[in-house]
Amino acid sequence: MLTDLSTKEIWFITGSQHLYGPETLAQVAEHSQKIVEAFGQSSLIPVKIVWKPTVKTTDEIYETLMAANHAPDCIGIITWMHTFSPAKMWIRGLSALQKPMLHLHTQFNQDIPWSTMDMDFMNLNQAAHGDREFGFMVSRLRKNRKVVVGHWAEERVQKQIGEWTRVAAGWDDWQGAKFARFGDNMRYVAVTDGDKVEAETKFGFSVNTWGIGDLVSVVNSIGEGEVKTLIEEYEASYNMAASLLAGGANRKSLETAARIELGLEKFLVDGNFKGFSDTFEDLHGIEQLPGIAVQRLMAKGYGFAGEGDWKTAALVRAMKIMGQGLEGGNAFMEDYTYHLNPSNPSILGSHMLEVDPVLAVNKPSCEIHPLGIGGKADPVRLVFNSRGNIDSLVAALMDFGNHFRLLINKTKALDITEEMPNLPVARVLWKPLPDLYTAAEAWILAGGAHHTCYSENLSVEQLEDFAGIAGIESLVIDEDTKIRDFKNTINWNEIYYR
Ligand code: MN
Repeated sequence: MLTDLSTKEIWFITGSQHLYGPETLAQVAEHSQKIVEAFGQSSLIPVKIVWKPTVKTTDEIYETLMAANHAPDCIGIITWMHTFSPAKMWIRGLSALQKPMLHLHTQFNQDIPWSTMDMDFMNLNQAAHGDREFGFMVSRLRKNRKVVVGHWAEERVQKQIGEWTRVAAGWDDWQGAKFARFGDNMRYVAVTDGDKVEAETKFGFSVNTWGIGDLVSVVNSIGEGEVKTLIEEYEASYNMAASLLAGGANRKSLETAARIELGLEKFLVDGNFKGFSDTFEDLHGIEQLPGIAVQRLMAKGYGFAGEGDWKTAALVRAMKIMGQGLEGGNAFMEDYTYHLNPSNPSILGSHMLEVDPVLAVNKPSCEIHPLGIGGKADPVRLVFNSRGNIDSLVAALMDFGNHFRLLINKTKALDITEEMPNLPVARVLWKPLPDLYTAAEAWILAGGAHHTCYSENLSVEQLEDFAGIAGIESLVIDEDTKIRDFKNTINWNEIYYR
């Protein structure tokens, strides 16, 4: 249910002007085609890079950028000024551009050819000043863009471009996306709520509510055969608790759980939804809180967050798109409880049921246990530990009334070495950077949510770029965070985003 990134296009647009004559312009075209070819062969760039003819006039620029706006598979553009492209020519096009932009500040040749260099060479290889002229205009127009600097054949440069194309894909996925809410937010909870009209205006996705009864009727329409087939899949994929096996005391509950999963998935597929949220306070007609159902749908690529938290559901979805095909996963998470021992302060992340098995280090076990809240039948869930010893991060999206804030904390995933025989949910253990005390203080000062998306394969830079495309604030807590500076940043941003 995740879109195939290789079907998405980034248009490579080279700027120039007629002043240089046809011979130089032919070389410009040839060089830009070589760069696009190299990007096409790079395993670091997951999308198609599509070469476009050199733009040399105000009209050519406008027409190319408008075409990018309208091309459904085009998720962004890369611009490069091999020669000089007087930037007033870009005003009309850039003002109309609606897709994310990466400005590649590169040069066709890596080294200066000291002994052979003449004025023809100087005429052609002008990015050092041509890209500055272009950069001025983008800044003058107050347009967001990513700037990547370095020789195009370098792995570092291709990696940075590739990571940005993932960000553009996440943004593209949000445009027109639909998220379903079953029920409202958990009663009285603040941080998970927000302005859905403003979110749709800013982010491009819509959030609407469906009565739980609409879902119940789909769940009840699922046939025995489908339930049987899905249970076979469970049995092949997980270590099953004895009571859930055929003839076991809780076999009926497993059938109910499977029917809920099939019904939920059918509802989401039929409605073309990319994610959803539910709330345990409004599940009339659903026999047990969806546990394994939600877990498996998240692993398939649906965005989800509990208790009506539609912002986190949408964030999880976008981050899943960005991380697609990489090692590790992106998953709905909640800071659950602390280990405050000064020798190794750390955070145990979990949820009451809905932890995404993309994080599982081992084969999950499929279990059934009572749930203290919700007043429903015992829910079936997958229990597992997460991977340790990797660089990870958590990100949260909050609505501050006058603006949205994306808060990012770098984390280090820890191996879970202790047994937790009485804890019947999946768990994740990490140490936030720079340390738990500073990170949690900064997180609280920034009004960070308890719900996050936990990522094993995205970078802080990617999420900052994502916030940049959305035009919202991003705040980072990492190894360099100092509380005094962090407070100042919050205060200054408060003015900037007013
Ligand atoms: Mn929660």
